[in-house]
Amino acid sequence: MAAAEQWALFLDFDGTLVDIVERPDAVVVDQGLRDVLSGMKDRLGGALAIISGRPIAFLDTRLAPYRFDIAGLHGLEYRIGKTVYLCQPEDHPRLRGIVPRLQDVASAKSGVLVEDKGCSVAVHWRLAPQERDFVLATVNAAAEALGPEYRIQLGKAVAELLPAAAGKGKVIESFLRQAPYRGRRPIFVGDDLTDENGFNAVNALDGISVRIGDGNTVAQKRLQTPAALRQCLSAWVAGGVLPLMEEAGA
Ligand SMILES: [Mg+2]
Repeated sequence: MAAAEQWALFLDFDGTLVDIVERPDAVVVDQGLRDVLSGMKDRLGGALAIISGRPIAFLDTRLAPYRFDIAGLHGLEYRIGKTVYLCQPEDHPRLRGIVPRLQDVASAKSGVLVEDKGCSVAVHWRLAPQERDFVLATVNAAAEALGPEYRIQLGKAVAELLPAAAGKGKVIESFLRQAPYRGRRPIFVGDDLTDENGFNAVNALDGISVRIGDGNTVAQKRLQTPAALRQCLSAWVAGGVLPLMEEAGA
């Protein structure tokens, strides 16, 4: 196995490190996992980052007292060391204009939740699977009204409107141009459609891509559950071998 210092580890959050919950705000991270992530970061010489669709401010509350390098909103905002780039909602007046309308429409449908992330807005139907087509039609109409500067990101029981420039692959590439990530081989672990963009990027960089759970994917490896990944990471921090770092196909 190659030395840890040759690798950079990028981890999605929901559905990858933690199980997906019915109401997105209800997600919890146990102290054991936070400690494991911190231990991994040390072992990797700092080259560990969380790459999520959530806002950084939300993730920080769940990962405290630690502050990890992090990308939020599918790469629209990031923090690497002391450098912070936050997305400004006021730069997206047309998106802001659509949020109250989506909230109005959703309020008539029990179980449809609108998650306002500032520079993006996600509509969840996990609690109301029968409303899937309604949500998709609503979000499609909103996307058409917004035009090509915005796009729809589909996920697990969620459709999100976000600036078209957002993408996990691009932000991973940007991390890899900066210390301590520069010159390392990336590993990216994710579970959802938004992560496929990141898998493509690390595949092209001779990295290792890992998909959690079932579903079509361009990822090279697969783990079945977040619990399986957590076990893997814990064993590695405790001094074992991280199977994800074995050569793909080896
Ligand atoms: Mg995920």
